[in-house]
Amino acid sequence: MGWKAVTSALSALGLPLVLAACGGGDKASGPLAPTAFEQRFGAESQITPDNVSDLGLAWFHQFDTDRGQEAIPVYNDGVLYTVTDWSIVYAFDAKTGEKLWSFDPQVPHDRMTLACCDAVSRGIAVDKGKLFLAAYDGRVIALDAKSGKQLWSEQSFIDTSKPYSITGAPRVAGNRVIVGNGGAEFGVRGYITAFDTETGKKAWRFFTVPNAAGKPDGEISDQVLADKVNASWSPGAWTTTGGGGTVWDGMAYDPETDLFYFGVGNGNPHNYKIRSGGKGDNLFLSSIVAVKGSTGEYVWHYQETPGETWDYTATQPLMLADLTIGGKPRKVIMQAPKNGFFYVLDRSTGELLSADAFTDVNWAKGIDLKTGKPIENPDARMGKGSFDMIPGPLGGHGAQNWSYSPNTGLVYIPEQHLMHHYAVGKWTYEPGHFNIGFDLSAAAVATPDLLKEARKNAWGDLVAWDPVAKKAKWKVRHKWFYNGGTLATGGNVVFQGSSDGSFNAYDATDGKQLWNYKAGNGIIAAPISYAVDGKQYIALMVGYGGPSAFVGGLTPLQPRRPGRLMVFALDGKVQAPAYPVEVRAPPLDPSVTSKGDIKAGAVTFAQNCVPCHGPAALSRYQADLLRSGFMTSPAALHGVLANGTEKHRGMPPFTGVLNDTEIENIRAYVIDRARKEKPGDGQ
Ligand code: CA
Repeated sequence: MGWKAVTSALSALGLPLVLAACGGGDKASGPLAPTAFEQRFGAESQITPDNVSDLGLAWFHQFDTDRGQEAIPVYNDGVLYTVTDWSIVYAFDAKTGEKLWSFDPQVPHDRMTLACCDAVSRGIAVDKGKLFLAAYDGRVIALDAKSGKQLWSEQSFIDTSKPYSITGAPRVAGNRVIVGNGGAEFGVRGYITAFDTETGKKAWRFFTVPNAAGKPDGEISDQVLADKVNASWSPGAWTTTGGGGTVWDGMAYDPETDLFYFGVGNGNPHNYKIRSGGKGDNLFLSSIVAVKGSTGEYVWHYQETPGETWDYTATQPLMLADLTIGGKPRKVIMQAPKNGFFYVLDRSTGELLSADAFTDVNWAKGIDLKTGKPIENPDARMGKGSFDMIPGPLGGHGAQNWSYSPNTGLVYIPEQHLMHHYAVGKWTYEPGHFNIGFDLSAAAVATPDLLKEARKNAWGDLVAWDPVAKKAKWKVRHKWFYNGGTLATGGNVVFQGSSDGSFNAYDATDGKQLWNYKAGNGIIAAPISYAVDGKQYIALMVGYGGPSAFVGGLTPLQPRRPGRLMVFALDGKVQAPAYPVEVRAPPLDPSVTSKGDIKAGAVTFAQNCVPCHGPAALSRYQADLLRSGFMTSPAALHGVLANGTEKHRGMPPFTGVLNDTEIENIRAYVIDRARKEKPGDGQ
């Protein structure tokens, strides 16, 4: 074991990260306006490589919530809309920053115990005077965009007791608003639902994986499930776990053809040998599916990772574009999903046009363009017990938005690079908790020193990729992996934030850095560009969080800080106040001891706690465990883990999962880690 083992910690993070809405140029006033095509291109050209050094803060708003900010704001008719953690919507005067209204759907915070990856939201949709919110707890809500008044609200979860959550943005397709959800790590069955934009009445629902009872659902997906999907699954754990296949983001709509595209997530459990006896392609996991937006009727699909087993979701943002390939105009759909290959498909037929690695890939040698299937490395399915795999389960590209510039012909991918040590192990189904089907205990050896070693092989790149030439034109290296989404603009400037809080501008042609702003808090969202009264603005949500924040030590150690919407312009002179310096609780009193087994506690911690509290218990995002009052007595920690006393703050109970001995062993391990803590650990 070594540094590779500690990256096992990440495997729990199969999570639905979600992405943001769409948005983009000022010309595309709605997120799904035909010219937008989810290209996230800001057509405004006032800010250029020559003057971007004059960019400054024009206005900002600080929110009173402090989890991750992943939303892409939406500009429409002088108003800037956004959504924060806990699905709270805001409308601002886009020029002055004056708050016009806000809407808090009052999501119960204990809902976070049923979700993998923070209470984030990737965006809202605005269309024909209505704003659509897909709330974390499954409600789809239509608001009057002018007043913020609620028009209708419908529940999209088929069963609200199941660990479903929504972090993705809703999309509008004609008179439908369409939402998916996350939850595949915990064990649910994936689907998307379309509602009538006027009435909120359910229009159709499309399930992505079979009905375990072997019955039709009475939904539009019944026929294609019977024709193509059901036979691609074999007996296995999926009949208990739901199989996964959640659609937590990655959607796009072409109004010309009424085709609605969505990407399908990973299976549950991840391990295909347990899930489906190692047999079958397991449709529609890790696939792009095209349906009719109006009816949900199946049209085509392309599966990127057959027999998905590594959390290789196809839920990363989708993008539509018209490219010239081989001298011919092609209407394409593109994606840079977790598995590391950049896919270009004909969006009318689903024909695979190209698939090339945009990052280091060792699970497959390439994609056979004739069959559309990957040429797998035989070791990747862990026949030898383990495999050091790249990309890992956080992917070569995560939830972050990317962008396309029709001026340069390049797409700008927030790539990330992190190897993962996969190991097979025993597995039992634990309802309401992570159900991966892999052995996470390797992370028990994680120490701050090993994490520093692991970081030498973990980074992020901004990759400018030519989808026609099928290669990178330039790259910019970031210090940490998992950075912000990108925006390309008509002025030939590309913007991207980083996980350590830098907001940067680059020349779109050659990647030269042009400008930098220290936001004081990590950035994972993507900016947008808009113009009011002939002046160009760049708007960005700032606030670190999401799954990458859970693995502190491999990502920057950051406490939770209030989110901010920051809006920049060429003559901006506003100074945002610095965030208060983090004040940690005092170290544990030396009188705090435990008779528990430290070594056994390390294994139990790795198997149950690492997904949210990070390897070596370093992450301070959810709680500062190394200084936590809950570690001071057996009764205190017992209350949290066995009785769920912190459920209202999103800490799930482990009732019936961890016994008293295991709980005390965890306490012994965390106390031991606290005693060994040194200044600079995890930095
Ligand atoms: Ca996942």
